[in-house]
Amino acid sequence: MSQLHWFSQLAAELAERKSAHLYRSRRVLASPQGAHVTVADRVLCNFCSNDYLGLANHPQLIAAAQAGAVRWGVGSGASHLVAGHFAVEQQLEERLAAWANKPAAITLSTGYMANLAVITGLMSRGDAIFADKLNHASLNDAMVLSRADVKRFAHGDMQALARQLAASKAARKMIVVDAVFSMDGDIAPLADLLKLAEQYDALLYVDDAHGFGVLGNGRGTLAELGLSSPRIIYMATLGKAAGVAGAYIAAEQVVIDYLINTAKPYIYTTAAPPLIAAAMHASLDLIEQDVARRERLQQHIAYFRQRLAGACTLLPSTTAIQPIILPSSEIAVQVSAALFAAGFWVAAIRPPTVATPRLRVVLSAAHTQDEVAALCEQLLLILTALPAADLTPAAGSSAAGVID
Ligand SMILES: *Cc1c(COP(=O)(O)O)cnc(C)c1O
Repeated sequence: MSQLHWFSQLAAELAERKSAHLYRSRRVLASPQGAHVTVADRVLCNFCSNDYLGLANHPQLIAAAQAGAVRWGVGSGASHLVAGHFAVEQQLEERLAAWANKPAAITLSTGYMANLAVITGLMSRGDAIFADKLNHASLNDAMVLSRADVKRFAHGDMQALARQLAASKAARKMIVVDAVFSMDGDIAPLADLLKLAEQYDALLYVDDAHGFGVLGNGRGTLAELGLSSPRIIYMATLGKAAGVAGAYIAAEQVVIDYLINTAKPYIYTTAAPPLIAAAMHASLDLIEQDVARRERLQQHIAYFRQRLAGACTLLPSTTAIQPIILPSSEIAVQVSAALFAAGFWVAAIRPPTVATPRLRVVLSAAHTQDEVAALCEQLLLILTALPAADLTPAAGSSAAGVID
């Protein structure tokens, strides 16, 4: 009986979410990922996936995955440490390390697990972590799990960070940031962050989920900014621009050896299917060769910002993530639904994922110029039909991913 009572509490909480326009549900795709997807028998122009280069359904990746399954089978059978580390994965790790301009790398099954691996693997009670308030939720979870002392600074506030670092008595310090912020699209001031890391003898952990494959000729945000240091531990995910799945961590050899020996999300899990690594090799080939994809994406970004400037609140993002800030979750859901009815799929992102509700428009090289133009046209139609007050974002905090 008490269990039933518990369930009715869950139901009440969900009902509350519904009335606050915060309820989430999933739409079922009946097609592969791409610029066009089939949902409930409708073909929609998709502006919410992180498949920035249009590689998720690329014939060369499909062929590589098929050949990988034939060569290596499907299941990996065990953890990397037990009996699940394949030659195709070893080669991929060596290639990814070179891409990140680092001596060594390991791959993990997801970016979420990679963040848990680095932060819980290297940090523990008595250590101090300094984190941007807009960091990804997986970084927040990892910090809590590490039991280190956590200080969060306001988004991009280098002075606040410097004060926190100066005040810390911890022997081991780590600064943790998204390289490209996942819900805002802006790039972290990594050169300044590295300077502070040097000044205060901290490590700098960079989560490049949204820069890898896109920025720095595909090599990521550090390459884009020309930054390199043994203090930097680099993580990139392989399920976004790279179009496959998983993540990798690149760092000094001793750091990678230490993680292989201690990081639980690496040790106590069955390795990803080796065909994933086979597909990743094909993805890296394309990222390397197909410069036109990145150029097309840049053109879409410039066009989108220029078309919508003045019509709504954009954020200072130069990346494929182009949020439109709206005053309430209700309006964000309403605009998203109006776009959906017109054939465009754009996600409304709401608390607690972000503090300020928004549409998160994601541009991809897979879109044509005409499709981006049609989206802008439709957005302008919907936004200009709203009362002016419904376009002005509520003033206030930008903190998200509540952990404290
Ligand atoms: C998506 C994302 C992750 C998680 O990566 P997955 O491979 O999807 O688990 C981590 N960090 C950031 C910034 C992300 O956007």
